[in-house]
This record gives sequence, structure tokens and C-alpha cells, in this order.
Amino acid sequence: MKKISILGSTGSIGTQALDIISKNRDKFSVKALTCGKRVELLAKQIEAFRPELVCVEDEKDALELNKRFPKLEVLWGESGLQELAAKTDCDMVLNALVGMRGLVPTYEAIKSGKDIALANKETLVTGGKLIIDEAKKNGVSIIPVDSEHSAIFQALQGNSDKDIKRIYLTASGGPFRGYTLEQLEEVTLEQALKHPNWSMGNKITIDSATMMNKGLEVIEARWLFDVEPERIEVIVHKESIIHSMVEYKDHSIIAQLGVPDMRVPISYALTYPERIQSDVPSVDFFSLGSLTFEKADTKVFKCLKMAYEALEKGKSYPVVLNAANEVLVQQFLEKKISFIDIQNTIERVMNEHVPVNIHGLSDILSIDNEIRGKLE
Ligand code: NAD
Ligand code: MG
Repeated sequence: MKKISILGSTGSIGTQALDIISKNRDKFSVKALTCGKRVELLAKQIEAFRPELVCVEDEKDALELNKRFPKLEVLWGESGLQELAAKTDCDMVLNALVGMRGLVPTYEAIKSGKDIALANKETLVTGGKLIIDEAKKNGVSIIPVDSEHSAIFQALQGNSDKDIKRIYLTASGGPFRGYTLEQLEEVTLEQALKHPNWSMGNKITIDSATMMNKGLEVIEARWLFDVEPERIEVIVHKESIIHSMVEYKDHSIIAQLGVPDMRVPISYALTYPERIQSDVPSVDFFSLGSLTFEKADTKVFKCLKMAYEALEKGKSYPVVLNAANEVLVQQFLEKKISFIDIQNTIERVMNEHVPVNIHGLSDILSIDNEIRGKLE
């Protein structure tokens, strides 16, 4: 039995992970669960999976839960999340939190020697080198959950990072693929929330529409696979069947394919190196007919270009990119700004930023705070 703890168990990734676990009760036990505000759903999960430890965002909700489940240890707030990640007695922590609030809990879980199934890409966007170094120091594995990174990880089995020539990171292009800048100025929240291929949480759905998601994934891939940005190529593949590809130095290309369903990469991260039976349908090649590929338009989708620039310039730039994006996506979701304001404001913030060196977690947190303070 593998002991699993899930940070963000009420979200899109978290609920799909619990769905997999519920169908494989002989393989997993659940040790800890956490959520933000969806406490009713968390209560149902507590009844179904009987964790020892949970954490919620607000103290009031924690007190309520404790009344309902007197034997359960209930923590709350950011510090509760960090404490839970450090002390939960498990083999693997699935980090399915959204945003850079996932960074410190990942760090704490690594320091206490737990393997990480990482969905929370903002952890590596903001803490890349620090997290990878800490994982190496503690002999901890970070298994990607993001579908592209899972594909690359699968294509790397039996091969060596050293032989990689290039990574092709595939992108659906989102709901506004092919749009001009003028057309982007007119798009609504409702249109942006309609992803053509994937059903996901709100933040990543908007990130997919701006293509910032692909930019964040380039940064994520850089750290996970130790490949410089020049060797990571984004390729728009609107069918989302090829989830990414690795080209080796002999020019052999290995890809991972499947229907777009996150239960596949989530399962693989939870059971690696084994595979388990899946309810996900097989790819039907004959009804697909063909698969297509295009270049990404970085003149229109500036977020993708800015993510490459942030990675190349290094220092505090990726933290700034991420912080500005998190604040602006939230403001767009609240209908306070327009879609195009997201990329235009990130561009301004990046241009104004005077970079500093990052030595540790506290530098990341303070830059993040500074940028949020400017925009909120
Ligand atoms: P989501 O919004 O559906 O879920 C986020 C989880 O975090 C929820 O459990 C929520 O309660 C919790 N949370 C939110 N705010 C919190 C707070 N202040 N304190 C404590 N907990 C809080 O997000 P998601 O779509 O599941 O994405 C999770 C991560 O996985 C993101 O980093 C995303 O980029 C990545 N990812 C998601 C998908 C997908 O299909 N959803 C695919 C690839 C990668
Ligand atoms: Mg992805």
C-alpha cells in the first residue's frame, strides 16, 4: 500500500486523483487532504478516505471540521499547510494546489524526504533550481503530473537526459488559436473559460487561453529535465493527442500519445514505474484521421515569449512573471480587467522590474509579495 497525501484535494487534479484512488483501494491509502474553501466537499472526502490529518484555508472552517470529526487533526492557513506537508506520514505528496502558494509546502515535503507528484507547476516556475537542488540533496523524486511533462518523463524511460537533443512541448493553442491581437481585445471571460480539449481549474484554463500556461511549462520543463530554453520548442498541436516528444541526439523522436484526460498522467505519477488499468478511452486514430502541427504565434500571445525571456534573464524574472500573472488572472476572473490587459500589464511589470539574485525561499517570497502589492 502506498501512502498518499494530497494538497488541494478538492480541485480538478485533486478530485481526479481521489477518483483513481477510490478505484484502487488495494494499492493506496490516504494520509492527509487539504483544501481552500470547499469544506463541504472535503468533509465528504474525509468520510470516504479517512485521512489522519487535514488542512483548510480558514480557522473558522477548521473549528467546524474538528467538531464534526473529533479524532481528526485539523490545521488551517498557510502555516498549517506547511506543517502538514512536513509532518504527514506518507510515501508521496501529490501537490495539486493552484498558484505559488504550493512552493513552500513542496519544499517542506521534500525536506522531510517524501517523493512528490507535482501538478503545481508554479512551484518550479518560482523555485526551480532551489527545489531541484533540495530534491537531489534529500534523495527525493519529483514525478511530473502535468500532461506534457508526464509525456516527456515517459519518453525518457530507458534513456538518458544527456542524450536529449530537443524537447517538443505540445500546446493545444487554447480557445483563441489563430486570433489576431485586435480579436483578442474583444474576447470575454466566458469564451476564455471554454477550453477546446481539457476540463481544468479556472486559473490554468485562463493561462491556457493566454498561452502563459505553455510559458510556465517551458520553465517547468527546463528544471525537471535540465534542458536549456533554446532546446525546448513549443509546437501547436490542436488535437492534444501527442502530449509531448523528446528528440534524442540520433534524431530519433519518442512521443507519448493518448486522449486528453488528466487521469492518465495522474495515475502514472502515483504508480510509477508501474501502470494501472484505466477507464480512459483509447485513441481512435481512424476517426481522428490526421494530426496537425503549427508554430506558436508569440506576436499575438506575448505571454509565451515573455516566459522564455524570463527564463533566459533568470534571477528574479520568473518570480515576477508568475506573481503578475497570478494577480492579473484573478482580476480577469473577477471581470475587473480585460483579457488583453493580462499580457499588456505583465509586459509593463517585467520591463519595470529591477532584477535581484535569488538565494533562497525568502527572496522568492519577498519578490512575489512586492509584485502583488504593486498590482492588487
Ligand atoms: P483547482 O483550482 O481546480 O484546485 C486548486 C486546489 O487548491 C483546490 O483544492 C483548492 O481548494 C486549493 N486552494 C485554492 N486556494 C487555496 C488557498 N488559498 N489555500 C489553500 N488551498 C487552496 O486547480 P487545478 O486545475 O486542479 O490545478 C492545480 C495545479 O495543477 C495548478 O498548478 C495547475 O496549473 C496544475 N495543472 C492542472 C491541470 C488540470 O487539468 N486541472 C493540468 C495540468 C496541470
Ligand atoms: Mg500541461
